[in-house]
Amino acid sequence: MNSVAATRRAFDDDTDVPSASIADEVAAIARKDLAPIAPAIDSGTIYPADLLRRLGEVGAWGSHRPNNGAAEVCGATAFMAWCQNTLVWYAVNSSNPALVADFADGAATGKILGGTGLSNPMKSFFGIEKLKLKGRRVDGGYVVRGALPWVSNLGPDHYFGTIFEIENQPGEIVMFLADCADPAIKLQPCTPFLAMDGTGTYSVQFRDVFVPNAHILAELAGPFVRKIRAGFILLQTGMGLGLIRDCITIMNEVVEPLGHVNRYLPQQPGHFQDLLSDLELETMELARDPYNADDSYWRRVLALRLHIGEASVAAAHAAMLHCGARGYLKSHRVQRRLREAYFVAIVTPATKQLRKMLADA
Ligand SMILES: Cc1cc2nc3c(=O)[nH]c(=O)nc-3n(C[C@H](O)[C@H](O)[C@H](O)COP(=O)(O)OP(=O)(O)OC[C@H]3O[C@@H](n4cnc5c(N)ncnc54)[C@H](O)[C@@H]3O)c2cc1C
Repeated sequence: MNSVAATRRAFDDDTDVPSASIADEVAAIARKDLAPIAPAIDSGTIYPADLLRRLGEVGAWGSHRPNNGAAEVCGATAFMAWCQNTLVWYAVNSSNPALVADFADGAATGKILGGTGLSNPMKSFFGIEKLKLKGRRVDGGYVVRGALPWVSNLGPDHYFGTIFEIENQPGEIVMFLADCADPAIKLQPCTPFLAMDGTGTYSVQFRDVFVPNAHILAELAGPFVRKIRAGFILLQTGMGLGLIRDCITIMNEVVEPLGHVNRYLPQQPGHFQDLLSDLELETMELARDPYNADDSYWRRVLALRLHIGEASVAAAHAAMLHCGARGYLKSHRVQRRLREAYFVAIVTPATKQLRKMLADA
């Protein structure tokens, strides 16, 4: 089976058999190769391109399961995993045969790396901000200009999916793949973040970039986004679920020395274990049907995403309180998990946007 078919099958399939072995391989790479470099990724001294390609080779980007294995070890890598997964998700769902031929397998196997610039469009669809990219039709494609403030998992040979509005035609939107190797695209390094500095995140300027027809994901971006939006959000769940799992591990690690006093804390590892089981169950149930167009399904996806963001912050906060002074050391991973947890809650759709979307739905 090629990776496009595998991607579709893994998302649709009820059986966990093929993905379970991929999950094991991802977890093994995460424990062996990712754990030692997680602090360097966190501080921004490493962008782990080789590791991302290796994860692609074992099928991580073709399986389309939320990537908990990487998230148990490193939130930044889990975020890059999501970025890469969105690139594949866009390519395999496109009905442009030239684009599918050029990108779907390459991205699913990790030969092509990249991500997504949908934060601004996602916010624009819900009346939070205006679209930042504008395009005009020319022979063989479009010319696009504008700037996006943050796009992650990028490098000089990477691609990402985003959306522009056709000039003077409000509401006419086109989704495409941007090619970072194009000299008219400028990647500007961002000022340091609280976490996520090794995620290849740049501000991206489009200086009259020619986008060929072969790079158009969807001439009508509206229906395309409605098709891919649940998958886009469900794939983010891995970042939070893996992080919560590690926070439970951290709390359990200090039971022996500190359990006699930690038992007075209101939130215990068992509480988060129950919560995690519920969230995982709901994730897997919703992930079986990512093309479901019902409003009630969409509301469940939004509610799950909101709960995972809030539970991530709560679990990391509790883990910090359980660790006490030993967790306050820069060398302890719990302070990194706490910083990473806030990202789960603020990356688009952010907690406030999700609450607005649920209020408006
Ligand atoms: C580390 C990191 C990686 C990200 N990666 C991606 C990605 O790969 N793809 C993607 O599409 N989005 C990415 N984002 C954006 C992210 O998904 C959110 O959109 C962002 O965190 C803000 O969301 P918000 O809903 O809280 O908006 P708010 O912060 O409430 O508002 C966002 C708007 O406020 C303004 N603004 C905010 N901060 C500044 C600032 N420092 N200077 C000037 N103006 C500012 C801008 O107009 C911006 O559009 C990334 C953000 C971060 C911090």
